[in-house]
Amino acid sequence: MVSVAQMILMGGIDALIGMDILGMGDFAVTHYGGKTTFSFCSPSRREIDFVTELKRMGMFSQKPAKNAFCPCGSGKKYKSCHGRV
Ligand SMILES: [Zn+2]
Repeated sequence: MVSVAQMILMGGIDALIGMDILGMGDFAVTHYGGKTTFSFCSPSRREIDFVTELKRMGMFSQKPAKNAFCPCGSGKKYKSCHGRV
């Protein structure tokens, strides 16, 4: 009983989605292959969790590489911030 709309957004146009709408279903924004896709489905069909997917594929590490920037946002390298021993 929810209206569905499809629109093509040209460059420079923003989209605003209210939390009342987000609470009604699944919302995703992807940029696979250089193509940005906004997608919404109600009612919710499944959980989408990229972290869980990447962990399952063995492509997610809890610990950043030593020369990567620290995820705390300090701007320091991980090895000189929270990765210091
Ligand atoms: Zn840090």
